[in-house]
Amino acid sequence: MAAAQAHDLVIIGGGPAGLTASIYATRALLDSVTVEQGAFGGQAAITDVIDNYPGSPNINGAELGMSMQGQAEALGSEFVYDDVSGVSFDQGDGTFLVTCEEEGEIACKAVILATGGSPRRAGFEGEERFSGHGVSYCATCDGMFYMGKEVFVIGGGNTACEEALFLTRFASSVTLIVRKDHVRAVASVAEKIEAEPKISIRYNTRIVSIDGDELPSSIVFEDTSTGQVLSESYSEGSFGIFVFVGRVPGSGLVGSLVELADDGTVITDERMATKTPGLFCAGDVRDKPLRQVITAASDGAIAATSAAQYLGRPAV
Ligand SMILES: Cc1cc2nc3c(=O)[nH]c(=O)nc-3n(C[C@H](O)[C@H](O)[C@H](O)COP(=O)(O)OP(=O)(O)OC[C@H]3O[C@@H](n4cnc5c(N)ncnc54)[C@H](O)[C@@H]3O)c2cc1C
Repeated sequence: MAAAQAHDLVIIGGGPAGLTASIYATRALLDSVTVEQGAFGGQAAITDVIDNYPGSPNINGAELGMSMQGQAEALGSEFVYDDVSGVSFDQGDGTFLVTCEEEGEIACKAVILATGGSPRRAGFEGEERFSGHGVSYCATCDGMFYMGKEVFVIGGGNTACEEALFLTRFASSVTLIVRKDHVRAVASVAEKIEAEPKISIRYNTRIVSIDGDELPSSIVFEDTSTGQVLSESYSEGSFGIFVFVGRVPGSGLVGSLVELADDGTVITDERMATKTPGLFCAGDVRDKPLRQVITAASDGAIAATSAAQYLGRPAV
């Protein structure tokens, strides 16, 4: 298929990493396009409150995402709403072909992969069947559907704890289901969890299965320390399960063009370069110690600057 368009740079993903890359690329006068399949702002956009982004205390995640996109657009950045389904590289002339579902192929000399991650499934029986009907991966999106109902939150990390706190706004009670005998939240969040009367924690517990007709009405729990199984029944639709057990990195698009860490994230150097010349990677999809909005934005800025240098047009 002939290439439909040609650009200096294609940025895949419009989360904090991609949008920051877009701002820096546009300011470096690169002819770039940012392709986003869903909502600009990425995971940040499904977060109710972000209170650790410097200069914007207690900002709503969607608002922060829209603000980043607005800033990029005002500078002249180009955006496409589409799903990227493949990236190929011609070693002969150093050209990439980025395949989009609707737009077709975009040819370019450099690519920044900023695809973040998608929610990891907890793996219990009934999870897929009731996904969107009793099982959710986004408290901001679905929390209001559980007004006055019982909510179970699976996960013991910082995100699970923060989302559990958020869900107390709607739910009559929130039970954290934690596989281990402790939670892994930062001290300030752990303190809030302990002080919140609506939240209780079931340690050493996992959900084995859920069942019901249209909506779930029973849960089978397992005590992970003894293996003892306990089945509990509820009236149908009286509860919801929110899953926060990590993210699956969106590195599948670039497969053999990069080196992957054991968890599937992309290994880069400090300039966000991968093993393929001209292919850069930024944000949560990258192998790194801290996955936050600020580190995603930082990666995006560095990746765009590196891409500009690679293309012989130093960033401003
Ligand atoms: C519930 C929750 C709460 C959080 N709370 C905080 C917080 O309080 N503070 C904080 O700093 N961080 C928080 N984070 C983490 C933060 O949101 C992420 O670290 C950050 O959004 C990562 O940015 P990113 O751009 O790398 O990836 P993402 O935000 O994941 O964005 C990637 C984008 O790429 C798009 N994309 C993926 N594949 C394709 C494709 N094939 N084609 C086109 N587009 C594609 C996606 O649709 C998405 O918009 C939270 C995350 C979650 C899930």
